Amino acid sequence: MAKSQLSYNEKAALRERVKELTCLYGIAQIAGRPGISLEEILQGIVELLPSAWQYPEIATGRITLDGTEYKTARFHEARQKQTADILVGGRPRGAIEIVYAEQKPELDEGPFLKEERNLIDEAARQVALIIERRQSKEDKLKLHAQLRHADRLATIGMLAAGVAHELNEPLGNILGFAQLAKKCSGVPAPATKDIEKIEAASLQARDVIQKLLVFARQRPPRKTRVNLNQVVQDSLYFFGARCAKEGIELVQALWPNLPEITADPAQLNQVLVNLVVNASQSMSGGGTITVGTRFCDHDVCLIVEDTGAGMSKEVLDKIFVPFFTTKDVGQGTGLGMPVVHGIVTAHGGSIEVESRVGCGTRFEIRLPIGQPQDTKENT
Ligand code: ADP
Ligand code: MG
Repeated sequence: MAKSQLSYNEKAALRERVKELTCLYGIAQIAGRPGISLEEILQGIVELLPSAWQYPEIATGRITLDGTEYKTARFHEARQKQTADILVGGRPRGAIEIVYAEQKPELDEGPFLKEERNLIDEAARQVALIIERRQSKEDKLKLHAQLRHADRLATIGMLAAGVAHELNEPLGNILGFAQLAKKCSGVPAPATKDIEKIEAASLQARDVIQKLLVFARQRPPRKTRVNLNQVVQDSLYFFGARCAKEGIELVQALWPNLPEITADPAQLNQVLVNLVVNASQSMSGGGTITVGTRFCDHDVCLIVEDTGAGMSKEVLDKIFVPFFTTKDVGQGTGLGMPVVHGIVTAHGGSIEVESRVGCGTRFEIRLPIGQPQDTKENT
C-alpha cells in the first residue's frame, strides 16, 4: 500500500487551512451565543482573529464599525497591515484590520499570505451578515411595536366613539332642559346661577365629546383644495401677541410655491392650534416655536418645533392615548394629541415626533397632495 507523505509546504498549507476553519467556526460560535450584544460579538471576533495569522504572537486586530472601535489589547497602528472593508447592504460601514507589531519579510501581500487575504475578506463578510441579520430583526420588532400601538389606538378610538355617542344624548337633554329651566319665570336668582353652572359644565363636556369623536374619526373631514401656508398664516395670526407676552418667539418658515392639498382647513387649523398650544405650554421660561412647511416626495409637510422641556421616552410613548396628560387639571385634558392623530390619519397622512428632555420637541406631519377630484367624495 502506498503511504502518502505530505511535503513540508503541503503541511504548512494544511495547518493554515485548519487555522482558517477554526477561526470561521469560532466566529459562528460567538455570533450564535444567546442574548449576546453586537458589541460583545465584535470584541469576541477581534480577539479571535489574530490566532489565525501566521505570527499570532505579534498579530493584533481592530474592527471599526460606524466609527466605533473594537481592538485587541496591544493594538497599535503599523505599516504592515491587512484590511478588509465591512460592506452592509452594499454600503461601507467599517473595516477589519490585522497589524503585525514587528516588521516581517515580504510574502504574497506584504508579510501576509494569500490565504490570510481570503480569511480576512471572509471574516468581513461574516461580520456584515451578522449586522444585517440583527438589523432586520430589530426592524421587525419595531414594526410589530408600531402595529401594536396603532391597534391599541384603534381599539381606544372605537371605545371612545361608543362612549361619546352614548353620552351625547343625555348630555343634550341636560343642556336643553337647563336652558329651558333658566327661561322659566319666577326662578330665584341663586337657582339661575346654579343652572348657568350646569349649562357651562355641559358645554365643556360636549367639547370633550366632540374631540373624542374627531379622534375616533367619526366626523369625516370636509375636504377642499387648500394651501397649507395659508392655513398656517391664518391659524398663527392670533398666537403672535399671546406668545410674545410669554416671552416666546413664533417663527414661520414657509416653503415658497407650496402645492395645494386636499384637506379640511378647519381640521388643519385644529392640528396647528393643538401643536402650538402644547409647544407654548412646554416653555415656561420662554423660547422659540418654529412652524414650517415643506414639499417633499409628493407630500406636503408641516413642522412644528419648540425649544421647550421635551419629553421622556415614557411620555412620548403615550402622547396619542386619549386622556393621557402630564399637566394639572384645568391645564390639560389629554385630548390634543389624539385629535391631531385622528385628523392626520383621516387625511391619509403620518406623524413623526422627535423629542429630547431639556432641548425641545419636533413634530413633522406629512400630508399627501391627493387629487383635486378627492374633494367631491367627502363633502
Ligand atoms: P394635554 O396638552 O391636554 O396634556 P395633549 O394630548 O395635547 O394633552 O398632550 C399630551 C401630553 O403630551 C402632554 O401632557 C405633554 O406631556 C406631552 N406633550 C405634547 N406636546 C408636547 C411638547 N411640544 N413638548 C413637551 N411635551 C409635550
Ligand atoms: Mg394639549
